[in-house]
Amino acid sequence: MLEGSALLGSPALPRHPSTLKGKVAIVTGSTSGIGLGIAQALARQGADIVLNGFGEHSEIKAIRAGIEREYGVRAVHDGADMSKAPAVHRLVAATIEKLGGVDILVNNAGIQFTAPVEAFPAKKWDAILAINLSAAFHGIAAAVPAMRMQGWGRIVNIASTHGLVGSAHKAAYVAAKHGLVGLTKVVALETAGSGITANAVCPGWVRTPLVEKQISDIATRERISQQEAAAALLGEKQPSRTFVTPEQLGETVAFLCSPAADQITGTTLAVDGGWTAQ
Ligand code: NAD
Repeated sequence: MLEGSALLGSPALPRHPSTLKGKVAIVTGSTSGIGLGIAQALARQGADIVLNGFGEHSEIKAIRAGIEREYGVRAVHDGADMSKAPAVHRLVAATIEKLGGVDILVNNAGIQFTAPVEAFPAKKWDAILAINLSAAFHGIAAAVPAMRMQGWGRIVNIASTHGLVGSAHKAAYVAAKHGLVGLTKVVALETAGSGITANAVCPGWVRTPLVEKQISDIATRERISQQEAAAALLGEKQPSRTFVTPEQLGETVAFLCSPAADQITGTTLAVDGGWTAQ
């Protein structure tokens, strides 16, 4: 007969494997959508949170206070503009100075713009590459030395199905997200064996402000309701015909920060209702 402990699984894993108490997590672009879902999931596991992103001062204050109250962790907001390299470096340095370290870096801030490649404004290309790709490079470069010193770190890059496959009219976004997947692999190789992991999460459609605009564009173009446009958007790409939620992505990131994921590095995790299985 099996012993009770054998039934509980490997004795090498702690009894409460998911706790992040005492860890400090930066989540870029976490005043809205997916980033907020990730910040809440990491706070639920006990991590102190550095929120980042734009928005109304009063709304951000309420989000920050809500996280502190609900999860009993420290939560601060840093409004660093992720399109500017020095601001990204300052965000990491200020986190180390104020909260005592940086254990988890979630590169999530991102923007979208759609147009055929020959009509794609160069300024939009530059902005998307800066926020969706270069910011992750600068943040990782700033955080890795501290993670190496403590012998533990988790880097999670929020890429997209568009880091794995293309779609028309998304030249900059698809290029940036494929670049982010490539960056993830290189950082994983350079940090392998140091206690640091680097992975990319690749969500399909999530109903956030970033996608709401694309739904409105379809509704206007096709002269259909928002609900019909949302169904059309899903029907074209996502076999489950159901939106992924920020909460599900938060739990995915929390899993990648757990001991069960210690040997998961350099990979992509698609959370896309079957989109990239086609
Ligand atoms: P969102 O628009 O709801 O949130 C974007 C966040 O980034 C906000 O907090 C915003 O303030 C912040 N931000 C934007 N520009 C910034 C800047 N220059 N500096 C600092 N913060 C900035 O979008 P979302 O859908 O939650 O997207 C989050 C990430 O998930 C993005 O990287 C996006 O590409 C990716 N993603 C989204 C979907 C989707 O369907 N929504 C799918 C796959 C991947």
